[in-house]
Amino acid sequence: MMNDLVDDCELCEAARFTHWYHEDDVCWVADCEACSTPMVVWKSHGTRPSDEDLQWMLTCLEEAGTQRFGKGTGSIDRTMRQVPEHFHAHWRDPNWLSRRWTERPSTYSGVGGERSLLK
Ligand SMILES: [Zn+2]
Ligand SMILES: [Zn+2]
Repeated sequence: MMNDLVDDCELCEAARFTHWYHEDDVCWVADCEACSTPMVVWKSHGTRPSDEDLQWMLTCLEEAGTQRFGKGTGSIDRTMRQVPEHFHAHWRDPNWLSRRWTERPSTYSGVGGERSLLK
């Protein structure tokens, strides 16, 4: 079932604070507020996307990662630490652990386009 949203889930809420790389009917890709690297989030609350949706989401995530860090830099991390009941995956570049301390966070400025940083 699509877009089966849950009230107190932060991924269902999909607040737009950081840069959004992509959005479509299946998913959205934005900088994670905690990690500051691209994160793909399924638009349905659950952990079992179809293979088709899963492949599409990972493709969208890789595209955002490539756009941000360059081709072949980083990998997909499907561990769901913070919200285990809602499918999402992170893009991890080699410096992701220190990034949140060394870089200003991005800010929302529309889907796609230029990635701008918080002042
Ligand atoms: Zn959710
Ligand atoms: Zn994160």
